[in-house]
Amino acid sequence: MGKFIGYRCSLCGAEYAPAQITYTCPQDGGNLDVVLDYNAIRNKYRPEDIFSRHDPSLWRYSPLIPVPAPQGEATPLHAAGGTPVFQLTSLAAKLDLQNLWLKDESRNPTASFKDRASAIVVARAREIKARVVVTASTGNAGAALAGMAAAAGQKAVIFAPKSAPPAKVAQLLIFGAKVILVDGTYDDAFDLTIQCANEFGWYCRNTGYNPFTVEGKKTAAFEIWEWWHGVHPEFHKRIGEGMDHNPLTIFVSVGDGNIISGLHKGFKDLVKLGWLERMPRLIGVQAEGSAAIANAFHGNTETITPVSAKTIADSISVDLPRDGVRAVRAAKETGGTYITVSDEDILRAIAELGRVGIFAEPAGAAAYAGLVRAAGSGVVGGDDPILVLNTGSGLKDVRAAMQAVADAPVIEPTLEAVKKLL
Ligand SMILES: *Cc1c(COP(=O)(O)O)cnc(C)c1O
Ligand SMILES: [Zn+2]
Repeated sequence: MGKFIGYRCSLCGAEYAPAQITYTCPQDGGNLDVVLDYNAIRNKYRPEDIFSRHDPSLWRYSPLIPVPAPQGEATPLHAAGGTPVFQLTSLAAKLDLQNLWLKDESRNPTASFKDRASAIVVARAREIKARVVVTASTGNAGAALAGMAAAAGQKAVIFAPKSAPPAKVAQLLIFGAKVILVDGTYDDAFDLTIQCANEFGWYCRNTGYNPFTVEGKKTAAFEIWEWWHGVHPEFHKRIGEGMDHNPLTIFVSVGDGNIISGLHKGFKDLVKLGWLERMPRLIGVQAEGSAAIANAFHGNTETITPVSAKTIADSISVDLPRDGVRAVRAAKETGGTYITVSDEDILRAIAELGRVGIFAEPAGAAAYAGLVRAAGSGVVGGDDPILVLNTGSGLKDVRAAMQAVADAPVIEPTLEAVKKLL
């Protein structure tokens, strides 16, 4: 377990001791960064100590994680992270790129990136002996919390908009969480969850509001770093070549802004430890109809103005992003940017990824749609090393997937009919 020494407010810089606070800064509501004792970690570990660990899950990075790794039997709680990276050769050729990879977060236990955050928050809940963990969710955060909580024998309550895709609601119910569907938006569910947490003394996982969600999400940055440093030597070399020109560029879809902030935190941790010299460039991709963070980034401000979100990509459909300021900084401080994509772009991206064997939900495919835009406008090109994150599985939203492809023909069961069709 990484030495956790306190919190620092991302807005005013106020510092708090671990026991002093649970969620956001009491002075200004700012998101809190978890502060680790970097000197202690640096004195105790070298990167090789981590690279040589057998645990393939995110817990292999426990020296950099502020909660104790779960002990005991193997459960899905131990299985979050450790997702594969694929090289996308044919799609790269189509986009005139040479070094394109995709990290497939749909391989997490409940099939989205959210498992990283939920695994850490459930471990934290155990540590502080929370009776009930609650979260608001567009679907995936809830499914991840419900799944991780079930694995750990922890009680969970999930608030989701009643419009959440049925597969996600099914996951919540199957994992045995108390599921409450709200006749309202994700944002309504978010505010209600905080009220309930205060009223009933529940521990609240809400994305961004709980400082440990970023601590889980940052583990994807550690995996990217390790991948890059030669767990796969052939990739390492190629990325190294590209690095002479441009750093690795990472495309990630953005709703609340907690994943991109988590990636940034992970890379910052590594820089503080002296284990990383050059940060990857972080490019956030938002849906045109849910672009509050992109608007702030391009308006050159940290003031996040809410929108009335409308997009097919439910997982990134957010009126008021809960980690907007850090998300703007993640792109700004790494030389990245924000790109917006239409629902049509997203559907096309689902189909294109499908043809190379990757089934993404709309929010997952949005990152690839952003890359298509970026390659078209020269934001990236040539031998730039590029990594796209697929944050969620297409099985989560089959209705959207069916909109991305033509219907299958229905025929009489005769050879004649087949011949006619072909
Ligand atoms: C939650 C989620 C995102 C966006 O993450 P934020 O932290 O809200 O920016 C992207 N894709 C999927 C599939 C998600 O579930
Ligand atoms: Zn503050």
